[in-house]
Amino acid sequence: AKEEGRNRARVFNARMLHGAEGDDLGAETLRSAVADGRISAVFQPIVDVSTGRIWAAEALMRLKDAEGRAISPEAFIPVAERTGVILEMGAWILREACDLLASEPALPIVSVNVSARQIDDPDFVGTVEAVVRAAGIAPSRLALEITESGQISGNPEVARLMDRLSESGIRVWLDDFGTGFAGLTCLSELRFDMVKIDRFFVQSCDTPRGAKLLKNIIDLVGNCSQRPIVEGVEEARQIELVSSFGVDLFQGYHLGRPMSRHELKRRLADQPNP
Ligand code: C2E
Ligand code: CA
Ligand code: CA
Ligand code: CA
Repeated sequence: AKEEGRNRARVFNARMLHGAEGDDLGAETLRSAVADGRISAVFQPIVDVSTGRIWAAEALMRLKDAEGRAISPEAFIPVAERTGVILEMGAWILREACDLLASEPALPIVSVNVSARQIDDPDFVGTVEAVVRAAGIAPSRLALEITESGQISGNPEVARLMDRLSESGIRVWLDDFGTGFAGLTCLSELRFDMVKIDRFFVQSCDTPRGAKLLKNIIDLVGNCSQRPIVEGVEEARQIELVSSFGVDLFQGYHLGRPMSRHELKRRLADQPNP
């Protein structure tokens, strides 16, 4: 079986070289990557710049091919979604996130990305609750990031799911706000704990027009009584500008790249006292 896994992995490499964006990646190759431990999690800090402290960390999935080369999430996540393997991978990273929280009391919150395919799974909330319980952590330390999409707005199932999660105390954040079609309806229909403003906006705020657009989006989120996190900050001057719009919570390369659990622990130990 081990040998078979290796062969599969080799096929997978050949396909990765020829296939468009890894489109030929199959469910089995993804499963074998998970089984062989070629899946991992990295964590990117979300910083409260008013205190300089890490307020949360986003868990991001990483995958390597059999030769140890990184495959981009943009390539493997869509395949995992299409084949349903995202259910196993999603449960795996949830456990990683809760495990980190259990071992790191100084880390307030970890967020985990959840795809529409997982939300459609009738066992989803049960799985999340079981993982939180097994880790013995407070449910309010876990946040689920949901991307705005047609599957979310106008879907009574999603509203019910969010109610169940919030009854359990688990947070739900809206991810990539501003990039899809459903963002505005999402804001009005559903109550998210946080709204993450897509990095597109901060990265086009160098022009007066871009800055004005970003400020309007931040105001819009605030007017819906929700709190924004601004993603994708790569420069100090972006934080300076956007702070003046009343935002405290930022995520981006300037504040920290996605890092190993070990590195994150070091960052937590080094940060300024409250
Ligand atoms: P996302 O959820 O919007 O995650 C943020 C992405 O932006 C990450 O890319 C992160 O590395 C990148 N990023 C963070 N700061 C900066 C910055 O300052 N500049 C730039 N240019 N990029 C920045 P990554 O890790 O490649 O993930 C890409 C996407 O793959 C994620 O976008 C998410 O949609 C998906 N993804 C990653 N891990 C998971 C997972 O565990 N489950 C699911 N369902 N999707 C995941
Ligand atoms: Ca995210
Ligand atoms: Ca995002
Ligand atoms: Ca995204």
